[in-house]
Amino acid sequence: MQIVDTLNLLNTEVTFSHVKGHQDDSIDPEDLPWHAQLNIRCDTIATETLATVDHDPIVPFLPASALSLTIQSTTITHHVPSQIRRLYASMNQRPYLTKHHEWSSPALFDQVHWDVVRPALLSFSFAKKKRLTEWINRILPLQVQQFRFLKSSSSRCPSQCGADETYHHFLRCPHPARTTHLLTLTSDLKVLAAKHRLDPSLTRILFSFLCQYTGETPLPPPTKDAHLKLFQSQLALGPDSLIYGLFHTDWVSLQHEYLGLRKLPRSKNQAFLCIRSLVVSIFHSWFHLWLLRNSHLHGTSVTNLHSYRRLQLLREIRDLYDSAPSMLRHDRDIFRHEYDSFLDVPERALKSFIQFATPVVNRSKKQASTLGPNCRAITDYFHSVPPELPPHVVAAILGSSGRCMPDPSQQEPD
Ligand SMILES: [Zn+2]
Repeated sequence: MQIVDTLNLLNTEVTFSHVKGHQDDSIDPEDLPWHAQLNIRCDTIATETLATVDHDPIVPFLPASALSLTIQSTTITHHVPSQIRRLYASMNQRPYLTKHHEWSSPALFDQVHWDVVRPALLSFSFAKKKRLTEWINRILPLQVQQFRFLKSSSSRCPSQCGADETYHHFLRCPHPARTTHLLTLTSDLKVLAAKHRLDPSLTRILFSFLCQYTGETPLPPPTKDAHLKLFQSQLALGPDSLIYGLFHTDWVSLQHEYLGLRKLPRSKNQAFLCIRSLVVSIFHSWFHLWLLRNSHLHGTSVTNLHSYRRLQLLREIRDLYDSAPSMLRHDRDIFRHEYDSFLDVPERALKSFIQFATPVVNRSKKQASTLGPNCRAITDYFHSVPPELPPHVVAAILGSSGRCMPDPSQQEPD
């Protein structure tokens, strides 16, 4: 709008043409027309500058926009409703997380790369997201907590190591299965670091945080100034901050710099995607560590009454999932969460899902069998169907013998 206004003021002859963006997603840029190449070049310069340069969070007011929104010294330029929700939530989150993660200052909240945490969390099913959110906010029903509120008879670790089950212990329990699990995470992260060409100095920082869980020899602190600063800032967020997914914002900018230095591709947020993939892998592994801990708490033997009842409920849910193909298509939405997401939910939640889903499944199966296989979705009624030509017209076109007349019964179904 502002550009159009300015051009009008200049009173010069200007022609407009639309150039489609991101064409290099599927085609080599060199094979594209000049206009498209210039567009890609502009995108690259803008992405690189945004990632490396400190920019003023207040956007100069453009008269053509007539209105702009600035909250806490930051101009909101896109995704307005979600940005407002996020900023409002951060007012409570900042003091809460400062207290629970024992940060020395609430300002540390803003050093966490939240734009990495959010999409990483969103990539999981509801049940996993819920547990991970409890982990990040430190409100998991760990034994110390349960014991304090008289929900458990002991505060000891369920893996029978004799220690109290605190957040600190959760990641450091010496139970062999749990240590092996964290060693597997380390090797998974090594593969990811190699795949995404993670800066070797950043890789060292990552593993110097992980060695506290695996018993490997600690690595010396980094020598380069920027990396040493990141190491110290990350430590200020807590020794376990990486397993909480709370990566410092400098991880992305330093990785971006490294990719530039090595002349590796970086114009498509490669640095951001690399760090996000590390967080997703850490969250995935953490969730399975939680399941492992639960199996130690509840037992996995079918002779155990608790797990036997649970297994029965899970079997019922499995059966409901298996009946999805014989249901009406639109009713299958009740199974939008993967079956695995039930493995970690409390028994009463399993029961209430069965109570809700069983009548829906039965009714839907009945309706599907009444309607038969030729049932059409409502949207099918809105497709235009070309009117059929009368046989004598077809005969006139193809010749009176009608030798070449198509046989309607041989036509392929839509
Ligand atoms: Zn333990």
